[in-house]
Amino acid sequence: MECAKKNSAYDDVFNSLIELKPKRFEPMSAHTTFRIGGCAEVYFSVDSISSLTQIIDKCNELDVPYYIIGNGSNLLVSDKGIDAVIIQLSESEPCFHIEGEYFTCSAMCLLSRAARFTVDNGLMGLEWAYGIPGSVGGAVAMNAGAYGGEIKQVLDSVKILKDGKIYTLKVQESDLGYRKSEFAFPNCIVLEAVFKLSYDDGFARERMHEYTIKRNEKQPLKYPSAGSVFKRPANNFAGKLIEEAGLKGYSIGGAQVSTLHANFIVNTGNATANNVMELIQTIKQKVYNNSGIWLEEELKLLGEF
Ligand SMILES: Cc1cc2nc3c(=O)[nH]c(=O)nc-3n(C[C@H](O)[C@H](O)[C@H](O)COP(=O)(O)OP(=O)(O)OC[C@H]3O[C@@H](n4cnc5c(N)ncnc54)[C@H](O)[C@@H]3O)c2cc1C
Repeated sequence: MECAKKNSAYDDVFNSLIELKPKRFEPMSAHTTFRIGGCAEVYFSVDSISSLTQIIDKCNELDVPYYIIGNGSNLLVSDKGIDAVIIQLSESEPCFHIEGEYFTCSAMCLLSRAARFTVDNGLMGLEWAYGIPGSVGGAVAMNAGAYGGEIKQVLDSVKILKDGKIYTLKVQESDLGYRKSEFAFPNCIVLEAVFKLSYDDGFARERMHEYTIKRNEKQPLKYPSAGSVFKRPANNFAGKLIEEAGLKGYSIGGAQVSTLHANFIVNTGNATANNVMELIQTIKQKVYNNSGIWLEEELKLLGEF
């Protein structure tokens, strides 16, 4: 893991926003579910829009790059670290509001907590999201989905920060697609989401429970990972293709193709980002040789590889 670099602009960001408790040369392994990654030049954990805009204004003033992350559950950060200020939107107090079938939630809130809250309060539509370890903002940015549900189906409007201004936008059909969204950094920063849910049909809690059992059975939750590594190819499944290429359990260094779910790469101990990248390239090539299909990464890469 590499850390120290010399760029005084980062010192300026750090020193001028000391009241927001920045960290210099912060290992990103501490902020990603993969538990992998070199250092961010400067790292902030923010739980308010005013702190967020203060940091962005300072970065813009000093011409310093910045990158927004949520809960770091879909990220692979380079071992060389990131030449940027990392701003992690972190939940302090959960910020929810229900009015009829409309559920309003801060982007910083954990998706699982939000899903659970809606079910506890007599709504359905987000029970599939329970167990996804991201933030609500990250879920909107990725159009997260599982078990036939996806954010797109229930997202009604978003509050975003774009070019220094805050907008509330009604979501259009074309704004979100399979694991992609107009409402994602660097296009914009999601601050809040409003979901149009439905009144519970009496089985929402049961469904949430069933999905949890399935997740526990099918996903290697004992090891750090970033969830599914590859997108689902048309009319096929990445895990199936990887398995058919004979790669289940294949490992490079501490990175292993999960023996439970072949579309997960797990960190079995001391995996580096390079180990994971090498494994990703090997999988892509071998799956292509075996099936003629090029897999495309779902996880986001940060830093130089
Ligand atoms: C064990 C495990 C299981 C998983 N299961 C699923 C699953 O079933 N379905 C699924 O879809 N995913 C799954 N994932 C992947 C991941 O949890 C989702 O993609 C999640 O939505 C990412 O949210 P995050 O807050 O962690 O985002 P991050 O990983 O922090 O960021 C992901 C991307 O979103 C952007 N982003 C984050 N927050 C914002 C914001 N507020 N505004 C604008 N852009 C933002 C970032 O810049 C980055 O490009 C799983 C991951 C793990 C580790």
